[in-house]
Amino acid sequence: MENIRVRFAPSPTGYLHVGGARTAIFNWLFARKHGGKFLLRIEDTDVARSGEEMVAAIIQSMQWLGLNWDGEIVYQSARLEVYKTQAAQLIADGKAYKCFCSKEELESKRQNAAREKLDYKYKHDRICLSRKTEEITAFEKEGRPFVVRFKLPEGETVFSDRVYGEIRVNHAQLDDFIIQRSDGYPTYHLAVVVDDHEMAISHIIRGDDHLSNTPKHVLLFHAFGWACPIFVHVPLILGPDKQRLSKRHGATAVGEYEKSGYLAEAFLNFLSLLGWSSGDDRELFSREELIQEFDLSGIQKKSAGFDEKKLEWLNGQYLMALTDRKLLELVTPEFLKTGLISNDYVAKNEAYLLKIIALMKPRLKRLVEISEMSCYFFKDPQTYEEKAVKKHWKGPEIIEQLNRLKNRLENLDDFKVSLLEPVIRSLAEELDKGAGKVIHPLRLALTGVSFSPGIFEVMELLGKDRVIKRLKTAIHFLESHAIEHAET
Ligand code: GLU
Repeated sequence: MENIRVRFAPSPTGYLHVGGARTAIFNWLFARKHGGKFLLRIEDTDVARSGEEMVAAIIQSMQWLGLNWDGEIVYQSARLEVYKTQAAQLIADGKAYKCFCSKEELESKRQNAAREKLDYKYKHDRICLSRKTEEITAFEKEGRPFVVRFKLPEGETVFSDRVYGEIRVNHAQLDDFIIQRSDGYPTYHLAVVVDDHEMAISHIIRGDDHLSNTPKHVLLFHAFGWACPIFVHVPLILGPDKQRLSKRHGATAVGEYEKSGYLAEAFLNFLSLLGWSSGDDRELFSREELIQEFDLSGIQKKSAGFDEKKLEWLNGQYLMALTDRKLLELVTPEFLKTGLISNDYVAKNEAYLLKIIALMKPRLKRLVEISEMSCYFFKDPQTYEEKAVKKHWKGPEIIEQLNRLKNRLENLDDFKVSLLEPVIRSLAEELDKGAGKVIHPLRLALTGVSFSPGIFEVMELLGKDRVIKRLKTAIHFLESHAIEHAET
């Protein structure tokens, strides 16, 4: 594979969508694998819908994913003269023509055709193609607006796609499509073909929503006398209901995944597997492994399902692989953001924080969860989870049980897992209960919630004073509620 040159060509009419990011990743992997070039082109000719802040957001998301591009970014808005020159060339060659028909005229023709159940196509009468030169000159003099249409030849267009195989399109289905709009801007079809040629793109890897545009592009490549790049259309990404992934399904912008605590490496791994497979069931790939394994033949025709649970699982795997120190570094901004702890606290309590991180690591799926999941290490429970109260603090004997536990723990000098565990297990035996029946009520008292890492480890970290204090608070809570119940 020589001179591999691919491009990612987002339209900055929105943030970087996960589908766009997946396309960018496939292009990037392909370029990096073959020592080729990965170019970035911003398709910003739709001035009304494009925005600089969108361009900035797209670039930021690409940087977050580590998708570095080669050379300067190409902005289509800076190349309008190039497209105009190329459109003029096609007109001069008799392969395109100016069309002065107004929107109203075209609309009325469309409606007439619809009334007779016919499909309106401009090529059927091609009024503007048969206009005399003098008439055209007169129109131009009076400044009448025009579009440029491609003059569709007879026949069919055949091209080959790496994923979809040979595709044949009969020109009966196409029309004299517009390549330059009345405001002088090129349409997507013209700009994309001119740029892909000038940028010497070898492979066009893009979403299969563009498959229906490709015959037009092939026609334009041929009309210009340029060779076509190799087309590679990648399947759509679907939501859980098998419909095209959209806002309805939740977050679609890459930036939202970054904000909600996914690691770039995990997200890259996840998106790479949407529509591509290395041929085995492997799910975990480092960036380097992806580059090594990526191959166009592994792109599947079948649409890919976006499974957020799998993304969470993958992210959890990546978090697990981090050192405690690295993970602490990543979650510290989350802690600070929620105001749970201060910078000063972080500086003074590193050893304690590292122990919390070590305990939480196997349970953490996303960075943003850290504060909520571990708040009881920093402050006493403010409330008790209602469902858990009903389930684990049933009956009057629970007060007695917590009291006995408190008394025994008070007698312990050393709050170590190895000493705590026998206390709890022996109490369970005396009460003729399973250990869970002692642990769950205890966990609720200490954390306010029903899920936590191993309770003995949590107790050791909290230390004797806090454990005793929280048990007393829980007992007090239960006693006052028991009185309330008795009164009502
Ligand atoms: N600008 C187009 C889009 O965002 C992509 C064009 C292409 O890849 O050919 O969908």
